[in-house]
Amino acid sequence: MNVPDIIIAVDGFSSTGKSTFAKMVAKEFGFLYLDSGAMYRGVTLFAMESGFIAADGSIDEPALKAVIGTLDLHFRRDSGATLLFLGERCIEDQIRTLEVSSHVSPISAIPFVRNFVDGKLHAFSEGGRVIMDGRDIGTTVFPNAELKIFMTADENVRAQRRFDEMVSKGQNPVFEEVLANLKERDYIDSHREASPLSQAADAFVMDNTHMTMHEELVWALGVIQGKFGILEAALSC
Ligand code: C5P
Repeated sequence: MNVPDIIIAVDGFSSTGKSTFAKMVAKEFGFLYLDSGAMYRGVTLFAMESGFIAADGSIDEPALKAVIGTLDLHFRRDSGATLLFLGERCIEDQIRTLEVSSHVSPISAIPFVRNFVDGKLHAFSEGGRVIMDGRDIGTTVFPNAELKIFMTADENVRAQRRFDEMVSKGQNPVFEEVLANLKERDYIDSHREASPLSQAADAFVMDNTHMTMHEELVWALGVIQGKFGILEAALSC
């Protein structure tokens, strides 16, 4: 199917499989995949390593603000995958730990952090034909995205998926901690003042609690065909 040069926004709760879904769609239709959460995780890792986050979780915002503009966070493409780099260092693994997950939502609630990340996301998306996942892509980052998808799933199923992913990466997670972190992030992400997680009015909603990857792809084909294929064909007749 020939999909036009559009921006696809995929938003939703934590661990709903947004990135797995978005990567699959990107591969199927030849889109560039960008993970906006990775950027927030990258800023969080930097803040942790710079000593800007105290043991009690409080953040030294003035210190972070003073240097954020100099932060060389960027994506690089490597045999089909899009990897996050901080300078010359690939930080894909370091940003997926539970420690980064436990600090990322307070960091991403800071308005100047959101401005910084939004600027990077727009720069990387120049030219369109991008599928990007996050929390506010269809509402704030690309409110005019041609296709918006909002993903949700049962929270125990989501926690189990995140748990399995961490185990597969050699980490040693505790299920209850993974579930607690997921609930806490959903709460902070949905209740913050700056660009909270919310469903765009024109988003297609996918609840993938009981869906396989193949069913998700069939779902996406149906939505894309309905919006850009069948509909266009019908209109041009
Ligand atoms: O998608 P992922 O779970 O990796 O995102 C990590 C965190 O980054 C989220 O919990 C949220 O706090 C933040 N985030 C955000 N806005 C986005 C993407 C992620 O606030 N567009």
